Amino acid sequence: NDCSESQKSAIDEITKEFEINTDKLKKISEHFRNEMNKGLEKHGQTVAMVPSYVTGIPTGKEVGTFLALDLGGTNLRMCQVNLEGDGKVSVRQQKYKVSDSLKNGDARHLFDYLADCVDKFLSEFNISSSAEDKLKLGFTFSFPVDQTAINKGNLIYWTKGYTASGAVGKDVVFMLQDSLNRKVVPVEVTALVNDTVGTLLAHAYKHSNTLLGVILGTGTNGAYFEKISNIKKLKSFSSNADHMVINIEWGAFDNERKVLPLTMFDNKLDRKSNNPRKQALEKFISGMYLGEIARNVLLNLIDRTLLFDGFSSKDLNNQYYFETEYMSTIEADDTNTLEKTKRILEESLNLPSTTLTDRQIVKRVCQLVGLRAARLSAAALSAVISQCNVPESGCNIGIDGSLFLFYPSFKERIKRALKECLGPNADKIELDLAPDGSGVGAALAAMLSA
Ligand code: ADP
Repeated sequence: NDCSESQKSAIDEITKEFEINTDKLKKISEHFRNEMNKGLEKHGQTVAMVPSYVTGIPTGKEVGTFLALDLGGTNLRMCQVNLEGDGKVSVRQQKYKVSDSLKNGDARHLFDYLADCVDKFLSEFNISSSAEDKLKLGFTFSFPVDQTAINKGNLIYWTKGYTASGAVGKDVVFMLQDSLNRKVVPVEVTALVNDTVGTLLAHAYKHSNTLLGVILGTGTNGAYFEKISNIKKLKSFSSNADHMVINIEWGAFDNERKVLPLTMFDNKLDRKSNNPRKQALEKFISGMYLGEIARNVLLNLIDRTLLFDGFSSKDLNNQYYFETEYMSTIEADDTNTLEKTKRILEESLNLPSTTLTDRQIVKRVCQLVGLRAARLSAAALSAVISQCNVPESGCNIGIDGSLFLFYPSFKERIKRALKECLGPNADKIELDLAPDGSGVGAALAAMLSA
């Protein structure tokens, strides 16, 4: 309300940079679809389109008891999954800590520890398995893997603070199975899955019209069912199945900088990141980066003395200190005087003082960054939807991750942008939370591999 002319014109100019109109959105989506098809044809493309070797689509009728082990999230997670048919499941789970010395020591110790956790879990929950009739385990391993079969994949490199030696280039299923065998734990590792693939499978078990599984969390990615005849690069693979799950690895989309609308705030984020010119789309969308883009905009306004009277704080000056979670709170702040926003700025970030106009500007910046992220997510979704044959009755998309779960209006913003891309057919597309990927999804992969 009390914005000065120079504040107003700065905000207008930033708004223009962050807006993506319908035409642009459609262009991005078209380019995405072309990139997907390139990835299906040849290895080593920007959008990698990684074959998962999971063939077949869950029907919801599958029954049986399977184990799932999830490495690569905040905790190590072990589950027993009971597929009950009718799309119903029951899950028992236990979390275990992975110490820094295990993450950064000898990989053999790490895998021995995994086998110990499987063993502990079986005895704690009184689960019987025998050498003659081993329980099957699906292994969710959320690191970059070069997969060659449903139960074979070599670690390409570690991420997320892991550096354990002696694992890169090795088959992680073999290593886990070897540890289990040496400790005489009667469990067979039958499937290796990426978290996105797990999300898709788990959602498809419950909703037969599922087309796509998506992660919108620290990172972003998607997986979908592709016709095997379309996966041209898959040379020596024979199967009676029609479909295979493809892990798109869409975070890397447009690393060539052809279509994404980079601003100086994005360029700065990229330059200072630990992977410059990589994961281009991910840097526009995922929880790891949204706060940092917003922080870059705020710092720019501060440097032009258009915000906080030109003052910053030690905290706000720190890279990644403006958390994406703050944006959720700020966007949801509907108090007259933006009290929640005030608390974040003055108490969490220790800015000396803020005016209502300052806080309104901060909220506006969050809206611009958050809206752009949702619209670009929709561009990716609409490309995958056009690649698939959506039945008349519509389809379902399963989405996991804190961004989708907590960010205000993220879902509604995606839906609106989908409608711009796809027209009225978008009304038949459902976006649902899909939280069971690493447990139920891995169990289904273990089942489908049999
Ligand atoms: P992961 O993807 O690592 O398995 P999550 O799905 O929980 O885990 O995603 C974590 C990411 O979500 C973090 O980058 C964080 O910034 C973001 N995040 C956490 N809470 C919120 C929130 N309330 N609103 C928006 N983003 C959030």
